[in-house]
Amino acid sequence: MGNHNKIASFISGKCPNCGQGNVFKYGPYNRKFVEVNHQCDHCQFKFEPEPGFYFGAMYFTYAINVGLMIITLIIFNLVFEKFSPFNYLVTVVTMVFLFLNVIVRTSRLLMLYLFGQPRS
Ligand SMILES: [Zn+2]
Repeated sequence: MGNHNKIASFISGKCPNCGQGNVFKYGPYNRKFVEVNHQCDHCQFKFEPEPGFYFGAMYFTYAINVGLMIITLIIFNLVFEKFSPFNYLVTVVTMVFLFLNVIVRTSRLLMLYLFGQPRS
């Protein structure tokens, strides 16, 4: 174990331990997109080490949203001569809603990759 490409398994939502098993039960645009498998079906790595483990993921969600707002702000400044706060707000809110599933899943993966316990 541990010889797989962590970045590749992160992007494809695979187990942080072996890179084989899927972390999520369903796809990103399924209604149950946040549901996480209890453990890896390949190496039994626990995806839910303790109840409420993923509460901390909301801080990552927040950080990603702030990052998204800053990037949008930079792009707006590059593209438009006059800054329109209304257009900016509409764009940011639209993007957050469009990417919400991906952002929430990315946050959960970050939580698992950074704080999930390796199998003893
Ligand atoms: Zn695994």
